Amino acid sequence: MRAERSHRIDTARQRWSPGRFVGLLVALLVGLLGAGVLTSGTASADGEDYLIATDITFAPFEFQNESGDFVGIDIDLINQIAKDQNFNVTIKPLGFDAALQAVQANQADGVIAGMSITDERKKVFDFSEPYFESGVQMAVLDTNNDIKSYDDLRGKRVAVKNGTEGADFAESIKGKYGFNTVYFADSASMYDEVRTGNSQAIFDDYPVLQYGIAQGNGFKTVTPKEKGSSYGFAVNKGHNAELLQKFNAGLNNLKESGRYDEIINSYLGAGAADNDTSLLGLLKSTFPLLMVGLKMTLILTIVSIAIALVLGIIFGLMRVSRAIWLRAIGTTYVDIFRGTPLLVQAFFIYFGIPAALGFQMSALTAGIITLSLNAGAYMTEIVRGGIQSVDKGQMEAARSLGIGYLPTMRKVILPQAIRTMIPSYINQFVITLKDTSILSVIGIAELTQTGRIIIARNFQSFNMWLIIGVIYFIVIMALTKLSDRLEKRLVK
Ligand code: GLN
Repeated sequence: MRAERSHRIDTARQRWSPGRFVGLLVALLVGLLGAGVLTSGTASADGEDYLIATDITFAPFEFQNESGDFVGIDIDLINQIAKDQNFNVTIKPLGFDAALQAVQANQADGVIAGMSITDERKKVFDFSEPYFESGVQMAVLDTNNDIKSYDDLRGKRVAVKNGTEGADFAESIKGKYGFNTVYFADSASMYDEVRTGNSQAIFDDYPVLQYGIAQGNGFKTVTPKEKGSSYGFAVNKGHNAELLQKFNAGLNNLKESGRYDEIINSYLGAGAADNDTSLLGLLKSTFPLLMVGLKMTLILTIVSIAIALVLGIIFGLMRVSRAIWLRAIGTTYVDIFRGTPLLVQAFFIYFGIPAALGFQMSALTAGIITLSLNAGAYMTEIVRGGIQSVDKGQMEAARSLGIGYLPTMRKVILPQAIRTMIPSYINQFVITLKDTSILSVIGIAELTQTGRIIIARNFQSFNMWLIIGVIYFIVIMALTKLSDRLEKRLVK
């Protein structure tokens, strides 16, 4: 009996030697780094490099075209101005409120996002010369014949987008007309809210509404446009003065050369494109883009879960340590990351920490840190549970044979604990894979974010979310089947 057990422990140790495991992890990380996955810089020419934040879904000012390139009036303007003024730009689509926050946190150098120049914003941003006249207008579904004026909104819900002039305008009249507002992070969700019938109307900028209506988004306007402000390019107050100056100089040159008018006409003059919007047609036209998103989802998952495993082992050992202060560290870590939402952690790590400490961090780095720390907390509990599931007598027996605490852990307890941990570990892998979708809020173009960007262009929310759901499902099923096989082989 004893001989049999020690034999079993031996083979398990061969398979799961921590040295081999850590070696594998390091090799994986080094490989990824070497492949340039974790570096997200731009190849710079001779000029300055600037990171410019923008909205993800504000056609015709910023949106993705069929081949996945970011285009639109704002994007063309900033690119042409950069060329004219000899600087380099990296465009960072984040969502409107997130783009503004990124500039406030010095995570981006400037923002161009159809951003209205308002007195309120002038307190915290420095604006360029205005480059486009805009204003807010209400829109309802084409098929809605009940709402013809603001009066008809009484008791209804109105969808608006976080931090926008449209939202401010709706707030300013909602008391008078007796309607409620619901907030969304991006335009696509705001429009979907009305399409599903949960809300009756939206308030958005009229050039954007006109463009969407011409593209066949199924909306119409029934009230005149309100007086609104003009759009400006903005930097954090007191920062990047030379960038602002270059923007103004470049804008002037584009206006003089007629390039400005060409850009505007190329978007606002063009008619609606007729696309194949059947499920199959959509799948065909969006598949390459979705696969790029899926690749990012998998990279995020694999890197994070690998780091989380290391964290889990370190903190898990602390959790079962005999030293009370080690146990306290382990418990605090788990409590913090289990006790707060992943979304809050992502915002805190991406916006909060860099703003407070005054440095820049790429969204990918922030995303990996967030996911690793979060999954690491759950892994810690898995490791703790695994270790505690091994009979106490084994530790006592090994120690009485004169083997030290750590060698006993490494050679006797951990190899057995790992077997009981495998199912929970696989479970955590699947959870982390799904959690990557939350990182879309900090602008990482993983699968969910890719979907949002596509829907912002083609307005096919039902079919697109169906396709994306099926992709997640297939990948997770495949991974689960694979790991079931692995588990069967290991847990014999
Ligand atoms: N022009 C509006 C604002 O500045 C909306 C901008 C946007 O949604 N991208 O508030």
